[in-house]
Amino acid sequence: MIGFWFSGSGEEFEYDIRGLLGAFFPGEPQEKLAARPDEAAAGGYTFLYEVPVPDRTLPYEDIKNAWKRRIYDELSAATGRRLPWGTLTGIRPTKLIMSRLEKGLRPVEVADEMRRLYYLDGEKLSLGIATAQRERAILARTHGTDGYSLYAGIPFCPSRCSYCSFTSYPLARFQDKVDPYLDTMIYEMEQSRPLFGDRPLDTVYIGGGTPTSLSPKQLDRLLSAICRIFPVEHLLEFTVEAGRPDSIDAEKLRVLKDYPVSRISVNPQTMQQKTLDRIGRLHTTEQFTEAYSLARSLGFDNINMDLILGLPGETAEDVADTLRQLKPLAPDDLTVHALALKRASRMKTEEQTPSRPSDADSAAMMRAAAEGAASMGLFPYYLYRQKNMAGNLENVGYAAPGREGIYNILIMEEKQDILAVGAGNISKAVYPDGRIERADNVRQLDDYKKRIEEMLERKRKLWL
Ligand code: SF4
Repeated sequence: MIGFWFSGSGEEFEYDIRGLLGAFFPGEPQEKLAARPDEAAAGGYTFLYEVPVPDRTLPYEDIKNAWKRRIYDELSAATGRRLPWGTLTGIRPTKLIMSRLEKGLRPVEVADEMRRLYYLDGEKLSLGIATAQRERAILARTHGTDGYSLYAGIPFCPSRCSYCSFTSYPLARFQDKVDPYLDTMIYEMEQSRPLFGDRPLDTVYIGGGTPTSLSPKQLDRLLSAICRIFPVEHLLEFTVEAGRPDSIDAEKLRVLKDYPVSRISVNPQTMQQKTLDRIGRLHTTEQFTEAYSLARSLGFDNINMDLILGLPGETAEDVADTLRQLKPLAPDDLTVHALALKRASRMKTEEQTPSRPSDADSAAMMRAAAEGAASMGLFPYYLYRQKNMAGNLENVGYAAPGREGIYNILIMEEKQDILAVGAGNISKAVYPDGRIERADNVRQLDDYKKRIEEMLERKRKLWL
C-alpha cells in the first residue's frame, strides 16, 4: 500500500499524483492519508510520500508540469527508476507532440521541449514524433471537424477472456438478447442521424465485443441498417472487428463483402497456444491462421491483427516467435498492446493476477514486436497509453503505407465528432474551438433498452 498526503494545497492534481505513483509502483494500491503518517492510524505502508506544495506563481499548466517534474525527481531518486514516458501519465502522449508540430515547431524543437518539460526518453521521443507526423498526414485526408465518424458497439463474445475489461456478454448466456439489442441500436442510429445533417461521414467502425459473434443474418441486418441510415458513399474507411477467429466463417465474411467494409481485424493476440489456453480464448493458433487465410481468399486487402504483450508466462522470445509466425501471413496492420490489467477483468476480480513482467522484460517484448513489425514493412502510425500498463509502455498501431486505421487516429487525437451507438459506448463532440464534450451510454443491456430516450437526449445536447 502506498500512502500519500498533501503537505499544502494541490489536491486538484490528485489524479496526476495517483498516475505518477502508479507508474513508479505498478499494481500497488494507493491510499490518500487524511493526515501526516505519524498522525495516521495505520502502518504497513510500503511507501509513504509527502506531496510538495505547488509553486502558484506560474500559469496553471506550467504549475502542473513543474510540480510533476519535482515529484518525478523525488520518486525517481527514491526508487532508482526512470520512466520511458517521463512525467506523462495521460493516454494521449502524441496529442502534445501533434499540437507542437501544428504550431510550426520543427521536430528537433519538439523533441527538445518534450524532453525538458516531460522527461521523455530518446526512444519514446523518436516513436512519438514519427507517429505524430504520420498521423498528421493521414488526418489531412479527413474532413476534420466538418465531418464525423460512427462507432457501433456489439457487446457479445463467444466467451469471456480473462484479461477483458470491455463491455462483453458471453453468447451462450445472452443469445436471446442479441436481436432486441440490435433493434435498440438501429433505433438509436435512426434517431441520431438527423443531428449530422449533410455533414460528410468519414469513417465507420463496428467494434465490440466481437461483432462477428452475430449470426450472418444479424450481421446483414446491422450492416444494411447502417448503409440505409448513413451516407456511406464517400467513406474513407469502414472497419469491422472480426476479432476472435472462433467467430468467423465464410458466410459471415461474405456478408461483410456485400457492404462497403474495407478493413477487418482478425486477432491472434499471441501465437503461443499455451498462452491462449491460459487466458480463456477458446481458439487455436491454427484456427487463427485458417480464419485469416479465408478472409484473404475472399478478397479482404486490409486486415489488422491485434497482439497483446505481457500475457501470463510470456517472454520476449515468445513475442519474437509470434512475430516470426505471423510474418509469412503479411498483415496490413498490426496493433501491439501492452497488457493493462483493469479492475473489471477476471484476472483481477478472481485474484489470478499474474506476476507483472519487469520493466526490462516489458521493454524487450515491445522491442521484439517493433522489430517484427519493421521486418514486415509496417510503420508506427498511432499510439496510446493506459493505466496499469506492463512496463509503463504504450499500445502502438503499425501499418503498411496506405493501410492505416483512420478511425484509430481520429479517436486518439480527438479531431472529429464520433457518434457512438450501443451499450457502454461514449459519443464525443469536438468543437472547432478545440473544446470536447462527451455523452455516454449505459453499459447494462436491459438499461440500454429502457433508457434509450435519455441517451438520445444526451446526444441532442451535444449536437443540437
Ligand atoms: S474477444 Fe475481446 S471483447 Fe471479447 S471477451 Fe475477449 S477481450 Fe473481451
